Amino acid sequence: MKTIGLLGGMSWESTQTYYRLLNEGVKGRLGGLHSAKLVLFSVDFAEIEALQHKGDWPATADILSDAALSLQRAGADFLVIGTNTMHKVAPEIEQAIEIPLLHIADATAQVLKNDGINRVGLLGTRFTMEQAFYRDRLEAAGIDVLTPDEIQRDEVHRVIYEELCLGEIKPDSRDIYLDIVSSLSERGAQAVILGCTEIGLLIKQADTGVPLYDTTEIHAAQAVELALHHP
Ligand code: GLU
Repeated sequence: MKTIGLLGGMSWESTQTYYRLLNEGVKGRLGGLHSAKLVLFSVDFAEIEALQHKGDWPATADILSDAALSLQRAGADFLVIGTNTMHKVAPEIEQAIEIPLLHIADATAQVLKNDGINRVGLLGTRFTMEQAFYRDRLEAAGIDVLTPDEIQRDEVHRVIYEELCLGEIKPDSRDIYLDIVSSLSERGAQAVILGCTEIGLLIKQADTGVPLYDTTEIHAAQAVELALHHP
């Protein structure tokens, strides 16, 4: 089994989910007392969040590249960055290390393509919904991306930083998200990507008839596949 390098803490609420899913995935495949081999570097999210909102992405790239190097030195065979947003600096991180990166948008695009979905709604931080780094990756795989309107994007972003990353799960926010999921579906989305690793804490497939693609679940599942893939 390969050792997974998990770059987490963004936020730690979703890193907990990754840790559970990676271990459940390995146990599900190998049974018994098997669990994932992994090393975790968990950053202080307050530092990252301040830099994001200042637009100082080079500083975030430095912090995360150092963390990724630590994971490599600690024996990680490949890297998993446990946040969609910070894949904005994935190219810089990849340049700093020698081990491969399992990119969250590529993992998601692959599952969507396998399921025959080529027009999808995207929920995430404003950075993920509005900037090219994420949607370009999906579009390169032949998937059309719809995002919520500006007022809805503000709400989705606000709930992520002011509630979900603080571990607050509020029924009113769930209703807001589900309305936005419905409106994306009415505009032609065949499915909606939960493109922020905390959104799965708020809404679940059982809450809506619109197919949801949870990036945390997809990313963790592919990490398990890669960890167990020989050689
Ligand atoms: N975990 C979130 C994401 O997947 C947001 C936190 C962050 O900005 O990294 O985008």
